Amino acid sequence: MKKIFLLLCPFLLLLSCNESTTVNTTEENTTTATDTTQNTFGIIIHGGAGTILKENMTDSMETAYKEMLTKAIKTGHEILKNGGSSLEAVQRTINVMEDSPLFNSAKGAVFTNAGINELDASIMDGKTLNAGAVAGVTTVKNPINLAYEVMTNSDHVMLSGKGADKFAKERGLEIVDPSYFFTQKRYDALMEIKKRETIELDEDNKSAFYDPFIKDEKFGTVGCVALDKNGNIAAGTSTGGMTNKKYNRIGDSPIIGAGTYANNKTCGVSSTGWGEYFIRGIVAYDISAQMEYAGKTLEEAAKNVIQDKLTKMGGTGGIVAMDKDGNVAMEFNTAGMYRAHMDAGGKLDIGIYSK
Ligand code: ASP
Repeated sequence: MKKIFLLLCPFLLLLSCNESTTVNTTEENTTTATDTTQNTFGIIIHGGAGTILKENMTDSMETAYKEMLTKAIKTGHEILKNGGSSLEAVQRTINVMEDSPLFNSAKGAVFTNAGINELDASIMDGKTLNAGAVAGVTTVKNPINLAYEVMTNSDHVMLSGKGADKFAKERGLEIVDPSYFFTQKRYDALMEIKKRETIELDEDNKSAFYDPFIKDEKFGTVGCVALDKNGNIAAGTSTGGMTNKKYNRIGDSPIIGAGTYANNKTCGVSSTGWGEYFIRGIVAYDISAQMEYAGKTLEEAAKNVIQDKLTKMGGTGGIVAMDKDGNVAMEFNTAGMYRAHMDAGGKLDIGIYSK
């Protein structure tokens, strides 16, 4: 009997070893699977913040904004649902808003003092912390796509002016005649501001953000943050800047850390508002940094940066943001912000006014 047991011993040992190997492998696979794939995905957008009041808005105008926000967010959501990347979703979603005259971005961009349209945009990849940005371009139909090209096909993070337009042509992006960006409403707004400048001192420079659609002050920049099924966050922002801007003024939208930021460890953020304050407040990065270094939730960090720090500086505007778990923040200190969020289940949350 003892003999038989001794004979069987190595065999039994081998069997138990094999068993534990199998279990370990399965555990490892499970861990790997949860590390690289997650069920949560989502997308959030804005179409600018400002003094957007219900009493200044017609029903048809409200419907037009809501329809365009819905069309844009559905575009990105579909990409994410089918397993596409957050970078792709951000670009295609922003493209829809860039092509609409309703927003101060590409087709609906505001005019400079010289009567032209100078466009800014930026995009950031939260996985690699790569980023691309363009400022003051005048011939690129979709500046967010050029920001992506800068990120992926150049040695640089930011290109500006004629050089950026030249790079767009070389990369085969869609080039348009600058007249493509002409819209009567935005041109009239420039004329109105110029008239005001001659009769009164516009000390607080508020008329630079006068918006003819809502007959009040508004920052019409567009932005998007997306989280894809692989857990990668991307953020992007695209704008025409500030009406009547001079001296090749550049706002926060193409500034990484101010207008746009994304980090898979924390969150993605896109800003809209009075750019000079957002640059000084490093708004988008501050939200991420408060999460990373102070252990705040996205909601806490966004509230602190917009309602406390930015407001105390005298800045106005807002942000949309999404963290690595799909939680969102839509924080603004103005009367309204065009905004929409769609979660993994396709639930759409759309808003304009603060209440
Ligand atoms: N932040 C933009 C800028 O200052 C304006 C906007 O949000 O509409 O250029």
